Amino acid sequence: MICLICRQAEIIDGFTSIAFEREEFRLLINHVPAHICPSCGEAIVDEDVAIQLISEAEDSFEQGMREDVREY
Ligand SMILES: [Zn+2]
Repeated sequence: MICLICRQAEIIDGFTSIAFEREEFRLLINHVPAHICPSCGEAIVDEDVAIQLISEAEDSFEQGMREDVREY
């Protein structure tokens, strides 16, 4: 699949980092499987992965966590 953003390169499988921020809460999740464009760096995360990350971030926020960095 050609990158839809830059149309310069084929999307390849790789990993990215996803950050969530809400008020004082910050969560960074590293090593998230994603489809990456080697040309522009655009990272596309599968929908089921994105949904899981969002619910994890919501849980951490509700537990009163302020800042965390974790691995996927
Ligand atoms: Zn691109």
